[in-house]
Amino acid sequence: MAGAVVGDEQSGDDPTTLELCRVVADLLGQEAGVFMPSGTMCNLVAILTHTRPGDELICDHESHIYGTEAAGAAALAGISIRAITSPHGVFDAAQVLEMIRPRTRTAPRTTLLSVEQTTNFSGGAVWPLAQLQAVRDLAHAHGLKAHLDGARLLNASAATGISAREYALGWDSAWIDLSKGLGCPVGAVLCGSSAFVEQAWQWKYRLGGAMRQSGVLAAAGLYALEHHLPQLVADHANAQTIWHVLSPCGALRFDPPQPASNILRFGFTSPLVTAHEFAARCLKEGVRVRAIGSDFVRVTTHLDVSASEAQLAAQTMLAVAQSLSQGG
Ligand SMILES: *Cc1c(COP(=O)(O)O)cnc(C)c1O
Repeated sequence: MAGAVVGDEQSGDDPTTLELCRVVADLLGQEAGVFMPSGTMCNLVAILTHTRPGDELICDHESHIYGTEAAGAAALAGISIRAITSPHGVFDAAQVLEMIRPRTRTAPRTTLLSVEQTTNFSGGAVWPLAQLQAVRDLAHAHGLKAHLDGARLLNASAATGISAREYALGWDSAWIDLSKGLGCPVGAVLCGSSAFVEQAWQWKYRLGGAMRQSGVLAAAGLYALEHHLPQLVADHANAQTIWHVLSPCGALRFDPPQPASNILRFGFTSPLVTAHEFAARCLKEGVRVRAIGSDFVRVTTHLDVSASEAQLAAQTMLAVAQSLSQGG
């Protein structure tokens, strides 16, 4: 990062940022890319670019765009969201069809579908390729744009061996996060056609997101894409390690039943145990996990957690789960 060759990204001449955008666009089978400060901004800018105020977007009820980012979409893009209820954020074309409003004088115009690959709050599930393509094609057949929230797309590839390009090909926009499993301090890259990226740049600038000598950050992204992909496979193995320790514990209820990527999600069989209480007790013991509402705990493995630390974290969580379920 310190040695990165930099220029002015706002004027389109930061060479390291340009290189990162080219590499990620290529990785996703898209024409062009634009560097963003965050994944949240990738989603927001994609929404702003694909929709007009008063339009409606379809996504899963547990998706990041809905649960975490909906205020941005409402306040800045002026759109409404219609959410699909599905078991792990993985729905089918028939469910999308049901959510598309008829074109009438009164209904909002349904213009955008967003899908997460992998899911996040739904527990890191991986969409089968054919199902992903089916919802994309259904959207296109009804005149909707299709947006792939690929914050964790490389995790899907690490899990299945199917390339990010295969997953992202044919979507009207797709992006990856650099600051999740890839381990960079900051950034994400939003990709699409050249015309889409031209428009996305307008919104990025309007939102104040041009970043001058962003090459220092882009350099981290290039490094991570070259060196950290095997890390994702190790993260998945660590998630399995944790699952093997915790899944026999009767106090816990895994949902999905087994992790598919680097995320585990579980609830509690006793109604007296809350996710917040569990997370607080784990933190005291040195393990940071996240409560998702009061029902679920999300555990995420990443490059700062080694195989032996995953073991230790699992043993710690097991002890906490047993203690809490016995009223301790
Ligand atoms: C993390 C995440 C985001 C938001 O990305 P940030 O870089 O944290 O802004 C969006 N969607 C999904 C699926 C995510 O996992």
